[in-house]
Amino acid sequence: MRFPTVGDIATLSVTAIADTATLQEAIDRIVDCEHRNIVVTNGNDFSVLNVLDIVKFQNQHYDLSTTLSELHLPKVLTIKKHKNILETLDLITQSNFICVLNPDNSLYGLVSHSDIIENIDPATLMENYRLKDFFKIGREVQTVTQDEITLNVLNKMAESNIDNVIIINDMKPIGILTTKDVMKLMKSKANVMLPIQYYMVSPVNTVENSVTIKKALEFIKEKHYQRVVVINEKGFFAGVVKQSELIALTYSNWAAMMQEYQEELSEINTLLENKNKEYEHLASTDSLTGLYNRYKFTELFVSSYETMTQREATMSLIMLDIDFFKKVNDTYGHDVGDKVLVQISHAMLRILRNVDIVARWGGEEFVMLLPTANLDNATLLAKKIRKEIANLTIDIAGHVTVSLGVTTVKIGDTLESVLKRADDALYLAKNNGRNCSKVID
Ligand code: GH3
Ligand code: MG
Ligand code: MG
Repeated sequence: MRFPTVGDIATLSVTAIADTATLQEAIDRIVDCEHRNIVVTNGNDFSVLNVLDIVKFQNQHYDLSTTLSELHLPKVLTIKKHKNILETLDLITQSNFICVLNPDNSLYGLVSHSDIIENIDPATLMENYRLKDFFKIGREVQTVTQDEITLNVLNKMAESNIDNVIIINDMKPIGILTTKDVMKLMKSKANVMLPIQYYMVSPVNTVENSVTIKKALEFIKEKHYQRVVVINEKGFFAGVVKQSELIALTYSNWAAMMQEYQEELSEINTLLENKNKEYEHLASTDSLTGLYNRYKFTELFVSSYETMTQREATMSLIMLDIDFFKKVNDTYGHDVGDKVLVQISHAMLRILRNVDIVARWGGEEFVMLLPTANLDNATLLAKKIRKEIANLTIDIAGHVTVSLGVTTVKIGDTLESVLKRADDALYLAKNNGRNCSKVID
């Protein structure tokens, strides 16, 4: 067996339309071809226009002679058709589609969650893993009652960009409306002022949350569904599991199975290694500032503390908190606040030495661990950092100051006890009028 390429699994019956076409032409094409999505092309760039987008544009009373290029649809990720299918798994968790390209970058087809599901072999799946073991209720699930006006339901879907709504009565799922049905409504020019019960697909096929992942996948494949509606043992609505979630769950298993295939072993290994590095990075850094996060800092504190005791060295810790940061957010907005956090992080890194470890401890609080620094060294560094930050002129926010608490790490300390002293010192600095550093040995 050969591991399939992206080209092997792609859907080839794709309708494409140039971005010079008008919105009206796109609507006609979607209704005509009965695909929920059409690809909008502009040279080597591709976007997808789906039926929910059209509901949205209609709500916003878009002029139907607007060209598709004027809609600024987001670009869709692309992948070459000869690539290993594993590479799609990364991309498909980011978006619902990937455009598959020929070697000359022309459009070959589309890959969706369904295409991947079709190619997952249920025999490789965990039989003991049950739906209720992993899925949480309420994520991206919208429910309405059968009396809800259809137009409201469509608006709800378009606004929150969800591709299905479950209709509930007495806690039980009695119907469903998906983008596929939205398309049919558009095609038949349905009266959207009628309650949803006229148009919902009923009854809904459901699975119990006690079924295994394998069974759920078999069900989804057999019915050609994009999701399964899940009920509990009493028949009450418990949630919806999407194809992408089932894919994510089977990812690791699938990769393990592939290791049997020698010729592709090294390729897959590289892919998995890169993934692991990526996960490690994500797990240890704060996404906004790129600094270490609290978990990584805790880990590094423990190893640094060991080295310190072995070498009978000294080590210090500084805690930093931005002054009146709430005011920055309130005055200029959260985005400007975020920029301040980034600028302050950079300022700290400029002053600190290579051996120092800096982390975002929480919202606008940072901690610095300074191996080899005694109290005097640390106090000096804290002063330099305070000054560096006070001298910054940050875009829109202007000048911002910080307060710092300094302490040294002693034998017998825990991270908690060190942080407590640094925090007490920080409190003194705040009480002293801010924009200063205080020391507690
Ligand atoms: P003080 O000088 O006493 O420290 O005053 P302060 O306003 O800085 O202190 P406080 O703890 O009351 O406010 C901290 C604010 O930090 C509140 C919260 O909205 C904001 N904050 C926390 N995390 C973030 C974030 O990630 N981004 C942004 N923009 N703001 C954040
Ligand atoms: Mg604070
Ligand atoms: Mg603060």
